[in-house]
Amino acid sequence: MLNFEEDFTPTPQPAPHMPAPAATAAARGSTEALKQTRVRAADKRVINGATDVNQLVPFKYKWAWEKYLAGCANHWMPQEINMSRDIAQWKDPAALTEDERRVVKRNLGFFVTADSLAANNIVLGTYRHITAPECRQYLLRQAFEEAIHTHAYQYIVESLGLDEGEIFNAYHEIESIRDKDEFLIPFIDTLTNPEFRTGTPENDQKLLKSLIVFACIMEGIFFYVGFVQILALGRQNKMTGAAEQYQYILRDESMHCNFGIDLINTIKQENPHLWTAEFKAEIRSLIQTGVELEYRYAEDTMPRGVLGLNASQFKEYLRFIANRRCQQIGLDELFAGAGNPFPWMAEMIDLKKEKNFFETRVTEYQTGGALSWD
Ligand code: FE
Repeated sequence: MLNFEEDFTPTPQPAPHMPAPAATAAARGSTEALKQTRVRAADKRVINGATDVNQLVPFKYKWAWEKYLAGCANHWMPQEINMSRDIAQWKDPAALTEDERRVVKRNLGFFVTADSLAANNIVLGTYRHITAPECRQYLLRQAFEEAIHTHAYQYIVESLGLDEGEIFNAYHEIESIRDKDEFLIPFIDTLTNPEFRTGTPENDQKLLKSLIVFACIMEGIFFYVGFVQILALGRQNKMTGAAEQYQYILRDESMHCNFGIDLINTIKQENPHLWTAEFKAEIRSLIQTGVELEYRYAEDTMPRGVLGLNASQFKEYLRFIANRRCQQIGLDELFAGAGNPFPWMAEMIDLKKEKNFFETRVTEYQTGGALSWD
């Protein structure tokens, strides 16, 4: 939900046919093109803006700055979480069933590379097309959080002594994982192509589509079967260290998803000509495909019911989440009447760091020490 504290009425921009030279220079942070006048908040734009991207203030997009501050306040590191119980359980043949072990391995098989895809998409793609410095500031924080998540998954793989080659190659070798990633790749390629420029209605729609695919489908749907699985293990007192890592990741990812949705809605407000009936139909169809791919991944990771979870619950849950994503970006629901079979997931997302973080952390922060000038 957008929440502008200041008086801000977005000015729809005429559909430009060529990228304005000032806008493309501004996106690169070129100081030459930006010497003219002092930045006015009212002139800032999320895409195709011509104001100086090096000047964070005056703020216009406070929702982005607030999410940046919230992300920093939620900072955590994987090695702060004690994994010794997980290691003992993994070694004990009686502690976990074969189906539960398959869930853990397939789950990590998707996640160990997923956050690298997300990070590349931000750093090599999205960042340079966004001309609001508040949004760029959040994207820098988000990129680091994606690195922390990759670190967390690697840390779990290493702690449990899993076969690294098997887990890190799953996105090539396991069909249900490969299909999800192959769905995403063309949208990443659009943004990371060095020749790609915004500034035409066609290209601005391509950017918007890629942002929607990433926030609403990748971070908003493709992560959720995996999150439910590991958190369900944790709720049964199994793999509780991994489950705690996933809780922190889920909290970060739900913020990434919400930032992406605010970004998408602001681009829509500022550029209403992009939000055509045809475009909306295309997005709905992409979300539908995303739900099907994630459901196939659920079936593949848990061919039999496991942990009290079954395939029909996942079908319902994915439909429920997809409806929520549609509603968040102003589309009609895809699946009328879908309910939430996992209401406990909402609690996990709202996790308060203070509640249990200090009970389990095993190392001290290194970041608070004062510099000594002796
Ligand atoms: Fe993310």
